[in-house]
Amino acid sequence: MPEGPEIRRAADKIAKAIKDKTAKDIFFGQNHLKPFEKILRGNKVWAVESRGKAILTRFSNGLNIYSHNQLYGCWHTGSAYEFPNSSRQLRLAIHNNTHSALLYSASDIAVLADDELQHHPFLQKLGPDVLSSEITTDQVVERLHHPKYHRRQLGGVLTDQSFVAGLGNYLRCEILFVTGLLPKTTARQCHPEKLMQLAEVILKLSQQSYTTGGITNNLKQAQQLMNEGARFEDARFYVFRRAGKPCYRCGTPIERGTANGQGLYFCPNCQRFSATCSFP
Ligand SMILES: [Zn+2]
Repeated sequence: MPEGPEIRRAADKIAKAIKDKTAKDIFFGQNHLKPFEKILRGNKVWAVESRGKAILTRFSNGLNIYSHNQLYGCWHTGSAYEFPNSSRQLRLAIHNNTHSALLYSASDIAVLADDELQHHPFLQKLGPDVLSSEITTDQVVERLHHPKYHRRQLGGVLTDQSFVAGLGNYLRCEILFVTGLLPKTTARQCHPEKLMQLAEVILKLSQQSYTTGGITNNLKQAQQLMNEGARFEDARFYVFRRAGKPCYRCGTPIERGTANGQGLYFCPNCQRFSATCSFP
């Protein structure tokens, strides 16, 4: 499933096609949303925002299209009324004079008024967006101290969208590697400096992934690996999906555990249960 940085990049791409332009035509693939085609038509899109793993397309008449990509959702943008050759089901189309933004497969779509956003079952559970320009490390540290998260394993806390919105499995694995913590460590076990470092890495690595198109590895190292012929997918991560391969820092084979059916990748040497140990 795409994580916050991928959704934010998708939102940027959609914004390029439809932001500040009048929607000449709207199509909804689901019958219960059909009445909104007429209501939204002729209104300007003033923003396309990501909220965690959801996207809000905001219209000048105070309505918003909420969409969640789920596992299979896929946005396509291109020239007006240009449809890709796809067997996927078209769920939403927003056309203006020059461009079209098309959402395929995802069915979790709703039309909400501005004042309904805060009551939406998914949106109301979201913590601050990890890519927000307003979120600070102090705020993240404060949340790590919150009773709701303090005693829970970080492996679970990091992907809890109420903690901060936008982290998924690859970011969780990479953040824990960079901070030298094992997934089973709790915030309660960490020294204040370690929590500060964790908060910094949560924000920094997410931002890096957003600006680089998904690289969480050390940027120089990732570039060097690709110069030497590595594929992007093999160079972008420190540990994620690298089970059995040597850790870039210490050479120890990366291990794979599981949590809620998802693979958790870590270096057993660089990541320690003891949260006070210094990073090698
Ligand atoms: Zn290592």
